[in-house]
Amino acid sequence: METIRRNILQPIKDLWSLIVGLKVTGKYFAMKQVTVHYPRQVIDDENLKTYAGHIELVGKPKDPCMPRCISCQMCATSCPSGCIKVTKQKAPKPTPEQQKAMEEAKAKGEKVKKPAAPKNPAGFMLDYSLCSLCGTCVEVCPVKSLRFSNDIYLVGTSRDDFKFDLLERLRSQAEPRCDAPASKKQ
Ligand code: SF4
Ligand code: SF4
Repeated sequence: METIRRNILQPIKDLWSLIVGLKVTGKYFAMKQVTVHYPRQVIDDENLKTYAGHIELVGKPKDPCMPRCISCQMCATSCPSGCIKVTKQKAPKPTPEQQKAMEEAKAKGEKVKKPAAPKNPAGFMLDYSLCSLCGTCVEVCPVKSLRFSNDIYLVGTSRDDFKFDLLERLRSQAEPRCDAPASKKQ
């Protein structure tokens, strides 16, 4: 029985396995090529639309230099890899007139209204070397201020090359170009 299995059944199984493998190879060999010869060829814009690269900030429709972000930190706190760091803006110091008005209101026992901090972030850093592209940050953002980029041709020689200042990126992509200085890396 063992001789029959080794000399007859096993060669038949091996041959069938070879035929199945060749069938798969032949099917893909005959199909239209879906890869490109980078860098001589690049992916067209239509196909890049469905590519999910690192996250990036979305600008306001009327002011593309300003992110929709309201610095709520939900993306940073929900990120399982800890790769997002959002820095909130500080409230501006009250002007002498505001200070005087506040003191007068306080003396009258009225509610004192201090100048509020702007909602847009002072800094927005992404360490893409830690990102697992899970998309949680994109989903939890209450103002749809995050999306996946189509930044497909990323290269770097160190991990630091994948630490992105997303505010700077937003400003560099905005048209017309933004005058505001880019925030520094945190
Ligand atoms: S895609 Fe996931 S891992 Fe990457 S930054 Fe967003 S929440 Fe973090
Ligand atoms: S990107 Fe969205 S979730 Fe993250 S801090 Fe800004 S508003 Fe909040």
